[in-house]
Parts: sequence; structure tokens; C-alpha cells
Amino acid sequence: MDVVTIGETMVLFTPETGQLRYASQFSKTYGGAESNFAIGLARLGHQVGWISAIGDDELGKGMLSFIRGEGVDVSQVKVDETAPTGVFFKEVRNSSDIRIQYYRKGSAASQMTKADLNEDYLAQAKYLHISGITPALSENCSELIFEAIALAKKNGLTVIFDPNLRRKLWSEEKAREVLLKIASQVDIVLPGVAEGEFLFGESDPETLGKLFLEHGASTVILKVGAEGAYYFTNEESALVPGFKVEQVLDPVGAGDGFAAGFISGRLEGLSLYESVQRGNAVGAIVTTVKGDVEGLPEKREIDRFITKPADDVS
Ligand code: ATP
Repeated sequence: MDVVTIGETMVLFTPETGQLRYASQFSKTYGGAESNFAIGLARLGHQVGWISAIGDDELGKGMLSFIRGEGVDVSQVKVDETAPTGVFFKEVRNSSDIRIQYYRKGSAASQMTKADLNEDYLAQAKYLHISGITPALSENCSELIFEAIALAKKNGLTVIFDPNLRRKLWSEEKAREVLLKIASQVDIVLPGVAEGEFLFGESDPETLGKLFLEHGASTVILKVGAEGAYYFTNEESALVPGFKVEQVLDPVGAGDGFAAGFISGRLEGLSLYESVQRGNAVGAIVTTVKGDVEGLPEKREIDRFITKPADDVS
């Protein structure tokens, strides 16, 4: 296994038109930052495992088949007979008014505990990927994340953390406290500028880079949307420019794709600059396709896109 990630994925229902209260037809897909990331890595040819839980229900089984079918190892996904698979709805009123309605409280994934972690499974990976969503699900999930970090460190894994701030899931104070605590314990942190501002009250990229390094991470990758991403270590830093795309169709999932591209580069021994560039390329491609995972590229697409981006987005 190259990478192991942990988190909840939910079934996503999107009304085909209009307001949720009047909708009678829905499309069904799956939404979860960590499984998006895992699918991204699998498409790029890496071995990746996803630790999670689903209910003993049809929706959960469909979701598991989908993620397994994308080439992700799901051997560590628990089927919980006492709690359902989480569900959410995405109501698109217009392009600037998108409303999310969760039905995830008490979901199977929110019931995960540190006892669900298999140390031998973690120990054979090179990277552990976590997001700031899982600790927001419940106290037991928060404990699980800190235990996973401890086990990863004990076994020599590199820990990568995407804060993925979800304000709906917890209070600002609690979110800030826990996300900062995680950021102080991991090797690589992957925030967006808005998350950096939430955590440190600063929006200048250089200042944020310094603050995250002082806080404990040895590598900071700061995403700046279409402009690309910065990387910072104690030795070097640079802005790696993003790729231009003709039309952004759906920006959701760009951050997860970015993380997959970045880690893929590191796994293949690329430099930090080249790895961030690969992250930028995956993020850019994802924005040009509707859906969170549908646009995630395969290895040969990404190589072609980096050398000749315009060909791939026309
Ligand atoms: P998400 O909404 O998925 O959580 P995020 O806020 O974590 O995303 P973004 O900065 O929006 O992250 O996007 C991640 C990366 O994807 C960027 O650093 C960039 O490389 C690429 N990207 C995002 N938007 C665009 C765009 N409009 N054009 C080109 N590249 C983009």
C-alpha cells in the first residue's frame, strides 16, 4: 500500500431542477473528500486504502461497490449494523447559492472509534492522509484521528493533512483548536488561503507559510485556486503557477484532486516543485468536468496535460 486515508463518504442526492422542497427527481452520486482523494491516487496508478464505515444498507453497499470499482482497497471499511450510511442533498438555487443539507448525524462513519484502526494495515503504507472533516464528526472520530497520527508516526509513515474546514459540522472555536492541534503534529499540511486565515487570522501567503512551518509541519502547500499553489519548507519556497482552463464547470473536488496529484508526484520521486505542479494539473482538470471524481485523470492524461495543457481542456 502506498497511501492510507480515513474518512466518511456519503450518498449525495441532487435534485435535477429547482428547490429541494418541490423536487421529485434526483441524481445519486457519492461525496467524500478522502475517497475522492483515494480514487484520484488509484487513477494515477498507486495502491491506496480507505478506512471508513457504512451502514448495513443498500445505499452503503452501492457506495462500497463504486469505490472498490475505482481500484481503492476497501478491506478496512466496516459494515455497521446499528447505524445508517450518511446521506446529503445538494440544492443548486443558482451558481452562487448552493445549499447543502446533511443527514449524517449518528451515521455509521461517525461511530468509528480508534479500536477500528488496524496498526498492521497502517504500518505497511508510506503515507497517511487525513482531513479536518473526520475529527468534526464526533468525539470518537476525533480520538481516532489522533490515534491514527500516533500510529503512523510510530511506524515511520509521512502524515499529510488537508484541513478541509466544514463550518457546519462544529463551532469555530472547536474547529480552530482541533485543526491547529492536528497541524502541529503532521509532516505536510495542505490548506487553502481561507483555511489559513481561519486558523491564523492572516491571508498573506508568505506569512501563512511561515506560520504553518513554525507551528510544526515540515512542508506546507498553500492552495491559491486558479493561481496554483505555494510550497514552503525551512529551506525553500516558491509559487507554482496553476494551469489555465477554458471553462470551469465544477470546482468541487479540485482540492482533493490536487492532494492526489501532489502525493503521486512524491511517490514517484518528483521534486516538490514538480509534485505541486502535478497537483495543480489534477486540480485544474477536475474543474473542467462535472462531478467530484469524474474528472480525475489517469497517468497518461496528466503527463500530456502538463506538457500541452490546452489540448486537454478544449
Ligand atoms: P475544494 O473546493 O475541492 O476543497 P480547495 O479550496 O481545497 O478546493 P482550490 O484552491 O480551490 O482548493 O483548488 C485546488 C487546486 O486546484 C488549486 O491549487 C489549483 O491548482 C487547481 N484549481 C482550482 N481552481 C482552478 C481553476 N479555476 N483553474 C485552474 N486550476 C484550478
